[in-house]
Amino acid sequence: MIIGGWSDEKQTDLGPVALQTCPRCHNDTELHYVTTTKWFRVYFIPLCPSPTKHFLRCRMCGHRTRLDRLQAPHALAMVWMTSDFLEQRVSAEDYAAAVEDFYAATALPYRLSTDTRAGS
Ligand SMILES: [Zn+2]
Repeated sequence: MIIGGWSDEKQTDLGPVALQTCPRCHNDTELHYVTTTKWFRVYFIPLCPSPTKHFLRCRMCGHRTRLDRLQAPHALAMVWMTSDFLEQRVSAEDYAAAVEDFYAATALPYRLSTDTRAGS
């Protein structure tokens, strides 16, 4: 008899994308770009991963918005852009333009904020 099954979901937080009003809890909070993966294990030995899933996750309530394969690279670019903005390597004007580009490219059902409190 072979004993196997899927592991619990492993979540990796890649960082804040931007400040936004959460569609569930309605708090102004950071949405973080997170990825999740599970492993199929036999006798506790991980053999193969499930496909990675990509989300924007609310830090306040944990609500997750699923990103598809085309949206995920834009979210990762926004993590880098937000980091550069918070470290003042990018102007507020350039950051606002990046947020607009992100919204246009991903067509998410809500708008991200360019509020400078993102990541604080
Ligand atoms: Zn929330």
